[in-house]
Amino acid sequence: MSFQNPVFIPGPTNIPEVLRKACDMPTIDHRSPLFGSILHPARDGVRQVLKSKNAEVYIFPSTGTGGWETAITNTLSPGDGVLVARNGMFSHRWIDMCQRHDLDVQIVEVPWGSGIPAERYGEILKADSAHRIKAVLATHNETATGVKSDIAAIRAAMDQANHPALLMVDGVSSIGSMDFQFDGWGVDVAVTGSQKGFMLTAGLAIVGFSPKAHAMTASAKLHRTFFDIRDMDKGYANSAFPYTPPVGLMNGLKTACDMLLAEGLDNVFARHTRIATGVRAAADAWGMPLCAASSDVQSDTVSAICTPDGFDATKIVTHAADRYGVAFGVGLGDVSGKVFRIGHLGSLTDVMTLSGLATAEMVMADLGLPIQLGSGVAAAQEHYRATPAQAQKDAA
Ligand SMILES: *Cc1c(COP(=O)(O)O)cnc(C)c1O
Repeated sequence: MSFQNPVFIPGPTNIPEVLRKACDMPTIDHRSPLFGSILHPARDGVRQVLKSKNAEVYIFPSTGTGGWETAITNTLSPGDGVLVARNGMFSHRWIDMCQRHDLDVQIVEVPWGSGIPAERYGEILKADSAHRIKAVLATHNETATGVKSDIAAIRAAMDQANHPALLMVDGVSSIGSMDFQFDGWGVDVAVTGSQKGFMLTAGLAIVGFSPKAHAMTASAKLHRTFFDIRDMDKGYANSAFPYTPPVGLMNGLKTACDMLLAEGLDNVFARHTRIATGVRAAADAWGMPLCAASSDVQSDTVSAICTPDGFDATKIVTHAADRYGVAFGVGLGDVSGKVFRIGHLGSLTDVMTLSGLATAEMVMADLGLPIQLGSGVAAAQEHYRATPAQAQKDAA
C-alpha cells in the first residue's frame, strides 16, 4: 500500500506540504505574546473566509462535531424549539445531538439526495407565532449525499415569516471550498472543522458567532464547560486560551487562511466547481447517476455516485484500498451500500482528480461493472482541456 496516493475521501483532505510544515513547530509558551501572533491572525483569517465583518470566531481543540455542540450549548436552553431538516447522515447526527441535549426538535424529513426545502421551513416558521422555535439548523453541504442547500433561501424564508430564530449552519464540508456568505446570508452561527476546506488534519472545531448569537450566551442554560465561549472570550482578550491550545494546528490554520486568501476565495470556489464538473462528467460517462436529485443541488466538494441495483457499493471502496492503495468514501446511513463517494475538496488539482477517476474505473472493471476503461477519464479530460486551470489563473 502506497501512502503517496492522494485521498479521494470528503475529509480529511490532502494536506499541502506548506501546511504540514506550518503545523510542525517546536513548543512555544502559549502564555507568551508569541501565541497571540498565531491566535489573532488565525481568527481574522477565518472571519475573512466566512466573508464576515463582525463574526466572533472561536477555535476549539475538537472537530466539527464539537462545533455543533458549541453552537447549540452557547445559545439554547433545555426545551427550546429547534427546526431542522434531515437529508443525510450529518444532518441526522446534528439532530441526534440536539435531542440528547433535551431540545424540542422539529424534524423536516427530506429524501436523501434532495436539499433543504426552504419553503417548508417558511411555512413552519409562519405557523410558529409564539416563537417557540429558537434556532433553525441547516447543513449547507450534506457530505453523505453530495447535496448542497440554498442558505440564502432559508434566510429569506425566515425573514418573510418575520421569525427571530437564530440561523445555524453546518458548513463543515463547504467553508473554504464553496461560496459561504456569513454576513450576506444572515448566518448566526457557522460551524466547520480543520480537516476539510482548511486542508489540515482533524483537531479543530471552528465556529463563527454573529453578534445576535453571541448575545444569547448570557441566557442560554444548556450545560457547557469545555465549549463555553465566555471562557474563550476572556482568554482571547488576553491573547490566551482557557486551556492548553493546539498551537501547531492553529499555526496551520493561520497559514491555510493565508493560502486561501492569496489564491482568492472566488478562484478557490471556481477551482472546486471546475474539478467537480469533471467528476460529474465522468459519472455521466459511466452511466451512473449521482445521489443528488437535481443539478442545482450538486455539491462541488463531494460526489455520491449510485451503483447499479443489487451491487454493493462498499466493495468499490474496499477493493480500491486493497488493490490500488486509494481511498474513496463509503455510503453512510440510508445510502450505505448504494453509493460510493469521491471527495474533491481542499488541496486538489485536475491532474490529481484524473488519477482518482482512472483508479475508480479500474476498480469497477475489476468488480465486473460494465465500465469502459477511460470513458469517465476522457469526459473529465475534455472538461479540463476546455477550461484549463492555468488560463483561469492568468485571468484572475
Ligand atoms: C465531516 C463533517 C462533520 C463532522 O465533522 P467531524 O470533524 O468528523 O466531527 C459535520 N458535518 C459535515 C457536513 C461534515 O462533512
